[in-house]
Amino acid sequence: MIYLDNGATSLHKPQEVHRAVANTLRYCANPGRGGHEAAMAASRQVFACREEASRLFRCPAERVVMTTNCTHGLNIAINSLIPPDSRVVISGFEHNAVTRPLHARRTKIRVAGRRLFDWEDMLESFEKALKSGVDAAVFTHVSNVFGYILPVEEMAALCRHYGVPFILDAAQSAGVLSVDMEALGAAFIAMPGHKGLLGPQGTGLLLCGHEPRPLLFGGTGSESLSQSMPSYLPDSLEAGTLNVPGIAGLAAGLRYVRSRGIDKIFQQEHRAMTRAAADLQALGFHPFVGEHQAATVSFMPETDCEQAAKMLAEQGIAVRAGLHCAPLAHESAGTLETGTVRISFGHDANPGQNAHLRRALAKIIPVKG
Ligand code: PLP
Repeated sequence: MIYLDNGATSLHKPQEVHRAVANTLRYCANPGRGGHEAAMAASRQVFACREEASRLFRCPAERVVMTTNCTHGLNIAINSLIPPDSRVVISGFEHNAVTRPLHARRTKIRVAGRRLFDWEDMLESFEKALKSGVDAAVFTHVSNVFGYILPVEEMAALCRHYGVPFILDAAQSAGVLSVDMEALGAAFIAMPGHKGLLGPQGTGLLLCGHEPRPLLFGGTGSESLSQSMPSYLPDSLEAGTLNVPGIAGLAAGLRYVRSRGIDKIFQQEHRAMTRAAADLQALGFHPFVGEHQAATVSFMPETDCEQAAKMLAEQGIAVRAGLHCAPLAHESAGTLETGTVRISFGHDANPGQNAHLRRALAKIIPVKG
């Protein structure tokens, strides 16, 4: 199978990740719960993961919180920063992981920047919203549907200028683009461990610049006499037993990403995306392409999207069709009625994948016109 659904999760993890998960299952017990060797070994694994993340994202290690996925981190961040009924500005390309928690809090949402790949439009409407008075901003780094890279450095600078705290959703950028907590000055940055960071499913990270409010209450292995959660990070946000095998795998994924270099990974993925977009165009399809695009390209086939993805699957190509949990992004791009077929490359992108994809597209999908 040619796996081109890395926007959902990375499937082909480095061998080091497999080994770390297996070894941890064998040798590690519960971190922070006991002074015996197996508990200490678990604590070391978790600490190593925090240290790796701290280095890659320039965030103090104790402010790196282990979560179960990006959605979990976003929910903690929104719960901490955005009281019910607040006014919030978001981009026109947000995932349901952002919009649903905001709707659940009856937030007054203002959407800025609905034109695909258009930084000028984004910055102009984003600033207008900040000027009009909002309590917080939440925005994605990269659209999971279209691969659109938002101008997050500039948006962060605008937030700092207007004194508006913000949450960054780094679900599609962590591991492929620079995510610098110190430079951005975010209140929170949430990310999955299982996509570009190449860790197992069930892992995620939340970087905390702002003081957090716990979402879960329970045992932490610290301050057991108290009926309140510890007041300090990361304990205040890590109630219950952690996913230690997953975290050890994530640490191995982080090490792999750092040693290969995110720039190199990005270039390799971007080359493959550019080739795929050119092939789609040559075959008569209309892919969504533009400046500021990462490793994801969406297109609309002549047939129904789900049908097209099924036909590609029959040719051994795994892609994702539909709305990709991001109806707002589809509404912005005018594809809400139809959805799109999404091709998303990963760290293992190579010309062979492009060749297979080209053959499959040419063979099975009727060309428009
Ligand atoms: N935000 C974006 C932009 C995403 O693409 C995704 C997942 O696809 C999420 C948030 C949620 O990530 P997770 O599935 O790790 O909760």
